[in-house]
Amino acid sequence: MAVNKEQVLAALEGVASPSGTPLPRTGALSDVVAGDSKVFFSISVDAAEVKAWEPVRKRAEEVVRALPGVQSALVALTAERRAGAAPPRPPQGRAMPARGAPRGEALQGVPDVAAIIAVASGKGGVGKSTTAVNLALGLSALGLKVGILDADIYGPSLPKLLAIRERPQTIGGTRLKPITRYGLTVMSIGFLIDEDTAMIWRGPMVISALTQMLREVEWGTLDVMVVDMPPGTGDAQLTMAQQVPLKGAIIVSTPQDLALIDARRGVSMFKRVNVPVLGVIENMSYFLCPHCGTRSDIFGHGGARHEAQRLGVPFLGEVPLDMAIREKSDAGLPLVATEPDGPHARIYRDIAAKVADQLKAGGGRAAPKIVIEA
Ligand code: ADP
Repeated sequence: MAVNKEQVLAALEGVASPSGTPLPRTGALSDVVAGDSKVFFSISVDAAEVKAWEPVRKRAEEVVRALPGVQSALVALTAERRAGAAPPRPPQGRAMPARGAPRGEALQGVPDVAAIIAVASGKGGVGKSTTAVNLALGLSALGLKVGILDADIYGPSLPKLLAIRERPQTIGGTRLKPITRYGLTVMSIGFLIDEDTAMIWRGPMVISALTQMLREVEWGTLDVMVVDMPPGTGDAQLTMAQQVPLKGAIIVSTPQDLALIDARRGVSMFKRVNVPVLGVIENMSYFLCPHCGTRSDIFGHGGARHEAQRLGVPFLGEVPLDMAIREKSDAGLPLVATEPDGPHARIYRDIAAKVADQLKAGGGRAAPKIVIEA
């Protein structure tokens, strides 16, 4: 039996806000997406009141889950983002892996998905998502069937980078249908929440959202699923690396020293959870003047290649700092799809070919047994 929005709202009348007002009358509820047996909605609150609202969120989830015909409910707590303000990020503390925690072999794979690879970075703004999208398109150009999962739940960027505005539909009321763009199968939490709200995630919700996006989305048969990880190497990222059955990980870094230190932490994090590092990509590697063609190594190019060698992980390639990449990427027109014969697309395709070779060869080199204390 299908559940509809009105039934969900009627049930939520019995859930009180911290001030006692029934939830649907607080003005904090987002649109309720009720797809037969699956329900999603968010509660937007003031960032300072998150603690007080968490029990309300929990109760709302329980009440909706108890409705006849509902199989799963995801209720997210969000905070209004001030115009131009950055979304809240997870704590960026040092990765403290739970040694011996189950992952890898112990993790159940996603049916019909041959390989899942993570694209990660030590910090935000290094071009991780742009690289993930163009890498996925490069793998697709090789004839592989490719999906991309936006696991950057703190600041999902795939809706923007792929210019996706529509919401996913449900299939048979139990599973979500991903969006298809440029031949890629795409899922992002950003498809389910409004762009101007920022998610506030508590630990168990992160895992629940990630698990649902992995396992309750109709991914179909894929050769590769590229997972765009949240930036950083803190506990949240580590938990994700432990929850997803990853074949390998790719680290995106800019050539600056500081970014390299962060990248080193990324390599270290994946090694600690026994995920092979397929390689490092140096983004914004050098600047080619669009007018005179002169190349400037503004950040001291080559650092990531050197660092990859030092860490014993493959170096996958260099992507220049280029206005075209920024403009096209931010306009939702990734270069590998929109200018497939251009010089940038060739760079991403070469990187994709190296990644595909590694996956064919069995998922990356054996990770040397080193632990770097950052
Ligand atoms: P992250 O995922 O690491 O936060 P994004 O992929 O969102 O980074 O990129 C951050 C910004 O940098 C975006 O505006 C993007 O268009 C731009 N960018 C990424 N790679 C390049 C590049 N190689 N050249 C120029 N701009 C880039």
